[in-house]
Amino acid sequence: MKIPYARHSIFDTDLRAVSRVLNSEFLTQGPVVGEFEEQVSCLVGVDNSVAVNSATSALFLAYKALGLGPGDFLWTSPNTFVATANCALHCGAEVDFVDIDAATYNMCLKRLEEKLKEASRLGRLPKIVVPVHYAGQPCDMAKISELSAEFGFKIVEDASHAIGARYDALVAGSVSEHTVGSCAHSDITVFSFHPAKIATAGEGGIATTNNYELARQMYRLRTHGITFEPDEMVWRDPSEIWNYQQIDLGCNFRMTDVLAALGCSQLARVADFISRRHEIAKRYEQGLKSLKGLILPYNSPGVHSSFHLYPVRVTGSSGTNQKAVWAEMHRRGIGVNVHYIPVHRQPYYEKKGFKKGYCPEAENFFKEVLTLPMYYSLKDPEIDYVMDALFNAFEVGLVG
Ligand SMILES: *Cc1c(COP(=O)(O)O)cnc(C)c1O
Repeated sequence: MKIPYARHSIFDTDLRAVSRVLNSEFLTQGPVVGEFEEQVSCLVGVDNSVAVNSATSALFLAYKALGLGPGDFLWTSPNTFVATANCALHCGAEVDFVDIDAATYNMCLKRLEEKLKEASRLGRLPKIVVPVHYAGQPCDMAKISELSAEFGFKIVEDASHAIGARYDALVAGSVSEHTVGSCAHSDITVFSFHPAKIATAGEGGIATTNNYELARQMYRLRTHGITFEPDEMVWRDPSEIWNYQQIDLGCNFRMTDVLAALGCSQLARVADFISRRHEIAKRYEQGLKSLKGLILPYNSPGVHSSFHLYPVRVTGSSGTNQKAVWAEMHRRGIGVNVHYIPVHRQPYYEKKGFKKGYCPEAENFFKEVLTLPMYYSLKDPEIDYVMDALFNAFEVGLVG
């Protein structure tokens, strides 16, 4: 048996949607990209969405649009994919990391507050803070937004794991529903449509915002900084043909209509995708709760996670047990993974001066975490096979 940690699900409706576009006039960015943006805006309850060719591009455009550049700092969680931090370096800014919370594995907000106070004294406050909704479990955005009002930073949510997630119950005293992506407590939110994520467009990303000016800037930046809008143009000489003008420095980050068609058709299934993920999580929880030495994911009360990942911790002996379980699972064809190697431990970041020990919680987590298979088409017998393998690995492989 071969069971990966993640896998996309493609349906006949996806094939039909893509083939319609292949037989149409547009292959690259055209009307379907606009439909995809509309659909995301409706799904998450936001005014503007800007679709691009990856979440990495969306993060880069979000940082650029917020003016991140040389001399600025961007802070994020070390427990993320490298792209979250890398895009700040591409803007010429410096990156710093706020250690994670030992229970949720999201950025620790107590540590964030302490670090902000310290940075305020030193005159080194960040321009942007990027919370990452790790595994699909939303961060406490209301709290982060309070800190942003106090310390004056912008907020970009890296919601690559979290389409369809909600943080309604975390908004103190409120019964209103806050969907991740609505930007109720942030400037911009970014989603990924990579095949390993909840819904896919093959590749693709989107930035959502309620700030029309930011959206307009990102629309331009995704296509070389060019505008086609008469009201954005600088030169207005009627004797010259200005059918477009470059007013910013951008690049080609466009999504294609082919991929947007796949994205649209997948978005229609997000609720289904997530409810199956919840069933899988429940089956894991019931099956694994008696396994001593294994820590199951913590669910923040009232939060609706999208369960992009199912991270468990293999405790004890500083990574030895984790490696033994990893090896045994892979021997049985189960592609458990590690999310994440803390970004500051990557050799590239080490060369920039980050040392082992800089974010102890994230580093402890790295030495214990395994992400179990989690995807829509994972069948109950396969889940049971994974759990049997896990029990077995604990019995045979562990040093204690
Ligand atoms: C996948 C991922 C990204 C990058 O997404 P792409 O669409 O592959 O560029 C960024 N941040 C996080 C947290 C991710 O999981």
